[in-house]
Amino acid sequence: MANVLVYVDHVDGAVRKPTLELLTLARRIGEPVALALGSGAESTASALAEHGAVKVLTADAPEFADYLVVPKVDALQAAVEAVSPAAVLVPSSADGKEVAARLALRIGSGIITDAIDLEAGDEGPVATQSVFAASYTTKSRVTKGTPVITVKPNSAAVEAAPAAGEVEALTVSFSEQATGTKVVSRTPRESSGRPELTEAAIVVSGGRGVNGAENFAIIEALADSLGAAVGASRAAVDAGWYPHSNQVGQTGKSVSPQLYIANGISGAIQHRAGMQTSKTIVAINKDAEAPIFELADYGVVGDLFQVVPALTEEIKAR
Ligand code: FAD
Repeated sequence: MANVLVYVDHVDGAVRKPTLELLTLARRIGEPVALALGSGAESTASALAEHGAVKVLTADAPEFADYLVVPKVDALQAAVEAVSPAAVLVPSSADGKEVAARLALRIGSGIITDAIDLEAGDEGPVATQSVFAASYTTKSRVTKGTPVITVKPNSAAVEAAPAAGEVEALTVSFSEQATGTKVVSRTPRESSGRPELTEAAIVVSGGRGVNGAENFAIIEALADSLGAAVGASRAAVDAGWYPHSNQVGQTGKSVSPQLYIANGISGAIQHRAGMQTSKTIVAINKDAEAPIFELADYGVVGDLFQVVPALTEEIKAR
């Protein structure tokens, strides 16, 4: 069976959920070989083996310490040369997409970004994408070189599938560009304690209807009752009510959670572009004609200032 190289996103050895999802998809195409880099790379092995990795390639070097992109590309290239995979799968984070694009260029391959599904095909893996502000769903495959495919978080279920997960050290020779950039300073953002927006299983978003920064407290309360991330429409972000890092949409982040709850959001095409692939969409809006109801699975026509706190109380009571 062909190898499928999976790029591992981890924090000090703790594997992030999108990587485990990639392992589920990789098993549809072949045998997953994982590549974990940097501090804690070896500690990822047991989680990766539990989810189907037949082999875990690891590499640690000072070059990986600053989270720079080029050293990762150097390592991925070395891994591609070592295992000749049928495809390379990378999580669709901002970082992952840059790494994937540079790798594809290096190895002369085609690339597909932001896939939402993946299946085996007679002529190579077939990726599903949601394109043009989610107006179309396309299926495509790479026709040149080793397919490099980035996959959006929440595109597949995490499935346990015990495998050998044999750890093997990968030798990486760093390119000249690897030292061409230096991190000068790093300021960690204060953590909200909520899940990362693009990876969250549930996202609760607020729009212009929230009517003020202080009112986002009721959106946050609902989010916290569900263990969800908080999103915002551009109207809410432009008004200064919520940070741009939480904006969902064409010029914000793209999310694909199991559940998306839109509060006081009209459903403009640019907002849809970032959330339309959510599995279940709930809209709370006082205007029964709001376009968001066209794509919502469940809708509540009502004033969010009454509906949202009542919903939060009900969830907390369970
Ligand atoms: P509105 O469209 O004003 O809708 C507010 C909704 O709240 C209304 O439906 C109203 O009925 C409802 N409401 C009001 N009060 C209440 C209440 N008390 N209870 C319940 N409901 C209530 N937008 C994004 O979101 N993300 C993007 O990334 C993005 N990128 C863009 C890129 C470009 C190039 C352009 C041109 C636009 C972009 N936009 C984006 C903006 C987009 O077109 C919309 O203007 C924006 O999404 C509207 O945000 P909204 O739904 O919060 O506000």
